[in-house]
Amino acid sequence: MSQHLLVTGGAGFIGANFISYILRYTDYHVTNVDVLSYAGDIGNISDFQHSSNYRFIKSDITKSYELLAAFDKKYDAIINFAAESHVDRSIHNAVPFIYSNINGTFNLLQMVLKGKAKKMIQISTDEVYGSLSSNDLPFTEETPLAPNNPYSASKASADLLVRSYYQTHQLPLIITRCSNNYGPLQHTEKFIPKIITNALNNKEIPLYGDGLNIRDWIYVEDHCRAIHLVLEKGVAGQIYNIGGAEEKTNRDVIYEILKQLGRDKSLIKYVEDRKGHDRRYAIDSSKITKELGWKPRIPFNKGIQHTIEWFKQRQNGAR
Ligand code: NAD
Repeated sequence: MSQHLLVTGGAGFIGANFISYILRYTDYHVTNVDVLSYAGDIGNISDFQHSSNYRFIKSDITKSYELLAAFDKKYDAIINFAAESHVDRSIHNAVPFIYSNINGTFNLLQMVLKGKAKKMIQISTDEVYGSLSSNDLPFTEETPLAPNNPYSASKASADLLVRSYYQTHQLPLIITRCSNNYGPLQHTEKFIPKIITNALNNKEIPLYGDGLNIRDWIYVEDHCRAIHLVLEKGVAGQIYNIGGAEEKTNRDVIYEILKQLGRDKSLIKYVEDRKGHDRRYAIDSSKITKELGWKPRIPFNKGIQHTIEWFKQRQNGAR
């Protein structure tokens, strides 16, 4: 039978890609709850806004009274993407991160506790594990939480609340922790969109520190497919790490984009490193591979080609 999902933060980058994925591949109904912060773009939902299986409710998950409007029915699952998501902003002002990422998650857990949804998937991040040095093994689900900036601390706090509601109330709750995403619809303040848009406009590309910080990049559709699988087959109380198996230095990411765009490396400008930025993230996805049969399918050189193409089209007025 067709399920009805409540997706929060579905006007943001990953949430909008996820709704698009679900409407394409299933007959599920989706209610999208988003406050439309600076990061939520109504353009992100334009492709599916008229779908008969979709509705949008502008609401803030930090305000429990506002949320009630969205809970006019019982949902099969809540998938919580809504969050403040930019590390640099959390260093400048952590307040909205505490409200949206912690209090917002708490309000949704209360809804599950009240029986308003049968389960919830908390979309978390590998950043809760902190930083690795070059010889360390990748993060597993057992790696201790060691967040290093207010963004990752707020996400880790939310994860602990989810864990506590599972342990205390035996609610069907699952956490996913994914590595760095890239792809269409991402906000231009983020690393890869900024490189692409600056390169397209022949503007300087800032490269922080020595450029050797490492991230494990995953194409957003691979992440969406993993969440769908977790929704269908994930086990309550479990955490699933999701990674792209594409560890790259920031410098190599910039080189690849410049190469694909036929632009010169002279656009790169080395600038002072930022506070609170971790050296290396790498994620061990063997649990989700073994237990749910998921693996990333889109290699970086292909995913980045699609992403560049999407930003080019958007710059030319088409989305
Ligand atoms: P995003 O910033 O692009 O989108 C966040 C969305 O949440 C926006 O539409 C915003 O309007 C909405 N939102 C924020 N606060 C809200 C509130 N109080 N009430 C309702 N809506 C609210 O973020 P993203 O990159 O799409 O990330 C989505 C989720 O995935 C986040 O929870 C993030 O921590 C997690 N995540 C992101 C990445 C990544 O690389 N982008 C990696 C792993 C996990």
